[in-house]
Amino acid sequence: MKLLFERSRTGRGQSLIPACDVPAVSFDPSLLRAEAPRLPEISEVDLGRHYTELAKQTHGVNDGFYPLGSCTMKYNPRIDEEMAALPGFTGIHPLQGEDTAQGCLEVLFRLEKLLCEITGMDGMTFQPAAGAHGEYTGLLLIRRYHQARGDAARTKILVPDSAHGTNPASAVMAGFSVVSIPSNAQGGVDLDALRAAVGPDTAGLMLTNPNTVGLFDPNILEITEIVHRAGGLCYYDGANLNAIMGHVRPGDMGFDCVHLNLHKTFSTPHGGGGPGSGPVGCKAFLEEYLPEPRIREENGAYRFCTPAHTMGRVRSFWGNFLVAVRALTYILTLGREGIPEASAGAVLNANYLMNKLKDSYDMSFDTICMHEFVMTLERLKHETGVSAMDVAKRLLDFGMHPPTMYFPLIVHEALMVEPTETESPETLDEAASVFLGILEEARTDPESLHSAPHSCPIGRPDEVTAARSPVLRYKFAQ
Ligand SMILES: *Cc1c(COP(=O)(O)O)cnc(C)c1O
Repeated sequence: MKLLFERSRTGRGQSLIPACDVPAVSFDPSLLRAEAPRLPEISEVDLGRHYTELAKQTHGVNDGFYPLGSCTMKYNPRIDEEMAALPGFTGIHPLQGEDTAQGCLEVLFRLEKLLCEITGMDGMTFQPAAGAHGEYTGLLLIRRYHQARGDAARTKILVPDSAHGTNPASAVMAGFSVVSIPSNAQGGVDLDALRAAVGPDTAGLMLTNPNTVGLFDPNILEITEIVHRAGGLCYYDGANLNAIMGHVRPGDMGFDCVHLNLHKTFSTPHGGGGPGSGPVGCKAFLEEYLPEPRIREENGAYRFCTPAHTMGRVRSFWGNFLVAVRALTYILTLGREGIPEASAGAVLNANYLMNKLKDSYDMSFDTICMHEFVMTLERLKHETGVSAMDVAKRLLDFGMHPPTMYFPLIVHEALMVEPTETESPETLDEAASVFLGILEEARTDPESLHSAPHSCPIGRPDEVTAARSPVLRYKFAQ
């Protein structure tokens, strides 16, 4: 397919820029570029066709089943997009005075209250731009807490070996060292190993529940108590909240702070890099350290305020605001009944699909799952040479996005499937029959699976090179 620069013809597609209606500003000439940028010149219709062609070559939730485990790629109601597109929200400037932005402040204020209720927290910041950014912010809260008490010895964060890779990475970024806690035979935290690991150097524990193999840890109250008794705090990675919202609250499980991924659970389309939002909530005793600004209500007006011992800012301005608008719309449209129903549907769908597959595919843990389940294709690979990668690639030929592959790392030849609540029984039945059909192919014609997909414009890119040395700029011939 041709790039925009290759389609470009000099003088084609001139744009009309509206007359300037603000005073002209002159810049220091040293700041001006010497030559005009070489932008593609292309007509509107050709531009439209270019992007339509690109869109046709990708797979999104609007194209078909997208069971990308750990990511919650669910359908996001259109009304949430409509609200986020209202001119009062999109036309606002971050430097506007608070008196002229009362509606926007109210969105954040009300969303904070609702998300605190859902998570069992007392206060929240919307600054972090993604889950990992929220983890970092939450860990800085924990750091501030220990520092304020003069407890400098607490330098270690405990992280289960099933954790998402961002957890240990964030802990290191926040200046801690990481202690990995092994899983037990049921896929939960090994309590004896946890007891042995805690001590006066424990700053805290990071945990997601349900965890990254899709299992709810029934020992959660004991886990958080072990950490608290040792003087550490408990951080809840809320990326898997889609499985429990409206049923169980991290705050009631003993967690002191949490992040949410609004772009997973609360209706912002993601994939391809954002924008996201990873608000961080905490119990009252940590609120004084939250990033600034926060919003409070004062005589019917909303005002920015600064927490007493704030860590400062972790991002410019007020966070990815339109993501918050979508989340508020999502929560208000689903309501008190709809929120728990959504997570119940997610768990039901995952168990339905898992049960259709479990006699044919090996499950990493033979138990009821939460919103996702992990299969291990180790035996299949041993018997037929067909890998998790081959099966994932073949799914594309049937209009399905592959599940998450080779994650979590503790499961070999892993495929991690998260159907989400927004899929119908018919779609799940169809997905099951595709999975079972591929298993049949693995037994009868394993060779053809090694070269799958057979119907996509790109089949097996060199993913390492694509990730490490991507070519993101057009290279002009001269
Ligand atoms: C997605 C995810 C994260 C990271 O969130 P980002 O928004 O991608 O930074 C952290 N933990 C878990 C369990 C996740 O699924």
